[in-house]
Amino acid sequence: MMNQERYAVCVPILHLGLLAVLALGAAASGFAQASSAAAQSQVGTNQRVQLEGELEIIHQDFRDGHGRFVYSLKLADGTRVPLHFVKQPPTHLLTGDHVRANGQLSGGSLTLYSGSTNLTKITGPAAKTPPPSTPSSSIPVPNTFGAQSTLVILVNFQDDAVQPYTVAAAQNMFFGTANNFFMENSYQQTSITGTVVGWYTIPVSITTCDTAQIGTAAQNAAVAAGANLSNYTRYVYAFPHNNVCAWAGSSSVGGKPSESWINESSPDSHTIHHELGHAFGLWHSHLLDCGTTATICSSGNIVEYGDLLDTMGVPQTASAHYNAFQKERLGWLNYGASPSIQTVQTSGIYTINPYEVGGPGPNALKILKSTDSTTGAKTWYYLEARQAVGFDAFLSNGVYYTQNETTGVLFHIGTDGNGSSSDLLDMTPATPTYYGWFDPSLVAGQTFQDSTAGVTITPTAVSSSGATVQVTMNGSACAAANPSVSVSPSQSQYVTSGTAVNFTATVTDNDSSSCAPATFNLGDALPTGWAGVWSATALSLSPGKSGSATLTATSPTGTADGSYNVGVSATNASASSYNGSAAATYVISTPGPLSISLSTNQSSYLPGQTVGVTVTMLYGTSPDAGASVTVTVTAPGGKATTLSGTTGSSGVALLNYKLSRHAAAGTYQVQVGTTVSAAISTVSAASTTAGASTTFTVQ
Ligand SMILES: [Zn+2]
Repeated sequence: MMNQERYAVCVPILHLGLLAVLALGAAASGFAQASSAAAQSQVGTNQRVQLEGELEIIHQDFRDGHGRFVYSLKLADGTRVPLHFVKQPPTHLLTGDHVRANGQLSGGSLTLYSGSTNLTKITGPAAKTPPPSTPSSSIPVPNTFGAQSTLVILVNFQDDAVQPYTVAAAQNMFFGTANNFFMENSYQQTSITGTVVGWYTIPVSITTCDTAQIGTAAQNAAVAAGANLSNYTRYVYAFPHNNVCAWAGSSSVGGKPSESWINESSPDSHTIHHELGHAFGLWHSHLLDCGTTATICSSGNIVEYGDLLDTMGVPQTASAHYNAFQKERLGWLNYGASPSIQTVQTSGIYTINPYEVGGPGPNALKILKSTDSTTGAKTWYYLEARQAVGFDAFLSNGVYYTQNETTGVLFHIGTDGNGSSSDLLDMTPATPTYYGWFDPSLVAGQTFQDSTAGVTITPTAVSSSGATVQVTMNGSACAAANPSVSVSPSQSQYVTSGTAVNFTATVTDNDSSSCAPATFNLGDALPTGWAGVWSATALSLSPGKSGSATLTATSPTGTADGSYNVGVSATNASASSYNGSAAATYVISTPGPLSISLSTNQSSYLPGQTVGVTVTMLYGTSPDAGASVTVTVTAPGGKATTLSGTTGSSGVALLNYKLSRHAAAGTYQVQVGTTVSAAISTVSAASTTAGASTTFTVQ
């Protein structure tokens, strides 16, 4: 961002420079590094500790276009402990926040697993009360309204005491150009006032780069010359270019006082407006790159400085307006007397005022995109109607911008409570990569649809007086839900160890009807050493629909007799917090000797009655399920009748013998066949000669 190539008129050079900037920005984003100025802690190594202090977030903007956030904790005794975050650096906090940190202390720096859960803001007397306002959905970061009393201290180094520009030039940079920029961005609510002092030569070498040391030495020099630091809420340290500080500018993110460092011999107004943006509490304005076919995606490339229409990104000009998400954080939109942002909740045609112009608004629309199922944080679409006005006049420059920016509606997304979540969207992803990011807007007549959010957006007219946008909401935004999972059979037949048993898992997609079809990955939980093979690894289902797949579970040969749990699960492939599971039982039983028993439901009957015959087949104590049985009933006169059936899961077959109205009186013989085929698969003898008999009488 800070490279000078962007002013080159040669487009190919600009092209290469920009791509390098964007790529480096993406690679370097989001990681915290230790400050070289880290004070040593007296505490020993690798200890879990809880520390309390004031959070410091310093951002460095490097000349080659990458950036770095440096976090530290300032303890009550003044010790500075560098903070490292394994994940989720704290983008919901600001410099000066009083926090409690839980982490692992090693070598004087504290490693925290997560910035969102291991770092807690302590609400105390230091907490800011926001200025009085009309009710609003968001409370802005503090210290963003009115005159911002700024002390600019010009310093040079003991071994490089040059004065590359004059005090008057510095006054014009800050209280002229930067003041105009902040007045226009804030709709005339925030100004940059104050004093430029210096040049002072500080006892610091240009062969080092220690921001804390430069800041302290500059303050000391200003105080020695009569400055009263307490009259100011923002400090800026400006010095001739120091090669060791590879960055062009650096700043605290928020803070009262905020502190900014300008490392340029000929300061660029973009550097000043960008670093002061950090000082006000802003993070970068990113770009979401979803490739050439999509505007929105769940795993796109976030380009750290990618917003080409925002000073917190890399506009191809000195300065551009901060986007609506950033201005809402500052309170310059949708707060107090600021222009409103209209939150669209029902279908209709909505107007957007030209973004750069003050008034009641709305200067942007806000439409719900999604709600995080874990944190409840809402992500919004922000729609703006940019015009080539004021600091956005560069939009008429067709060398850099294809100008759909002024004939279309600009889209960003941003998430409540996360300062680093502003992403520019490309509404024309199909255009080639280079130009693709210079025509990001959705022009009149084109439609953007987000079926997950249940919203369709069509600009119907865009002009210098603003835009009208038709928004259609299907009334029910996508609400994801846990899938239902069932498994059949709930219990296997009795099998010997080593037998493959099929279980059918059925999954139902319970997402609301406006959700896109979801893919559910199938999983199983089997005892250690067992084999599980699925007929399909995943099921793709529309909301309300069900699908099935078969799990073939096989126990190792020699597994002891018993009942074993077979678990199946289904997990939403794009949101793993949505899942379901079910379990069945796999029963192993080593066959014992076959036994057959035979009985009738009564011992004596009258003609016309029905005789109930029960055949029970067991191997040892295990039922022989599914076995064919044949029963012969022989009447007193010698006439034989054959009954046949199959044993059920308990090894029992129930057969009926209907006595005629003229059935002969006497004793009837009941015999179960002498050859009985065994259903159990691993019995070596497929048939057996076991049998049983009983009798009943007819009166
Ligand atoms: Zn920056």
